[in-house]
Amino acid sequence: MAIKKIGVVGAGTMGNGIAQIASQIGCDVVMRDIETRFVEGGMKNIDKFLSRSVEKGKIAADQKDEIIGRIKGTTDMAELEDVDFVIEAVIEDMDLKKEVFKELDGLVRPEVILATNTSSMSITEIAASTNRPDKMCGMHFFNPVPLMRLVEIIRGYATSDETVTITRELAEKMGKVTVEVKKDSPGFIVNRIMIPHMLEAIKIVEEGIASIEDVDTAVKNGLNYPMGPFELMDLTGIDIAYFVTEYFYKELNKESKWAAPNLLKTMVRAGKLGKKSGGGWYSS
Ligand code: NAD
Repeated sequence: MAIKKIGVVGAGTMGNGIAQIASQIGCDVVMRDIETRFVEGGMKNIDKFLSRSVEKGKIAADQKDEIIGRIKGTTDMAELEDVDFVIEAVIEDMDLKKEVFKELDGLVRPEVILATNTSSMSITEIAASTNRPDKMCGMHFFNPVPLMRLVEIIRGYATSDETVTITRELAEKMGKVTVEVKKDSPGFIVNRIMIPHMLEAIKIVEEGIASIEDVDTAVKNGLNYPMGPFELMDLTGIDIAYFVTEYFYKELNKESKWAAPNLLKTMVRAGKLGKKSGGGWYSS
């Protein structure tokens, strides 16, 4: 079955990026969020990204219009009824994801693959809320979606080979490099490696060993990473780092290495979530 129309659930940071690249490969896209202001926010972001691409001469102005023209923003889940593939990017909450997948399962054709962009949570558990666990997998994009090249494709317990193949082909069509995560395990590959980096960075600051700025400078210049862990958390959301850490702690046998440092909890409690909240480790 050719994938001509893609449903994206969630119009936030990841959802609007996914909707954009899905449209860029010529697919019609339905991007659904729960409130009009979130849908509009998503569309505005896509417009902003593409306007910059026009300014830089990467695409023509009429191409921008075409890409935006193929994306239908909506608050009505029923508009996803005739899509050929679904990518879910709602907030990182297991109960919400299960609810969304149950609804999608009853809505779209039985052969349609339902993929989740969860950063860390169990694909098997989300899939169990549907009657098509073989047609369910993780499709983990990175932020910012139009620029980051990797997509992790994650197998749940029942994910079929065909589902992996179709999802991989779609990601490759979107210009992404793919890797297969053969077992459903918290954080997959990248976040399983990334989270300990972030936790150690916070502990270094908490213990007064070095400043936020110097940790970032050290990591960028000593490890040749493009961003320091604090800059990265500000970009991706300090709350997300916190939720993922808590989830790892719970799922990976409560090993103390995964316990959230107090400073991380304090930042979240203070509403200092990074760029999206207007300030995080750095003030803007
Ligand atoms: P976000 O908060 O920016 O966006 C989530 C959106 O989902 C919000 O606009 C919210 O209104 C919407 N939503 C909530 N319930 C909904 C529903 N029932 N139907 C449709 N929309 C609904 O979050 P985000 O950063 O885009 O993250 C989305 C997912 O992607 C999460 O699972 C997250 O872990 C994962 N992820 C995030 C990043 C990142 O760097 N931000 C990277 C990779 C994966």
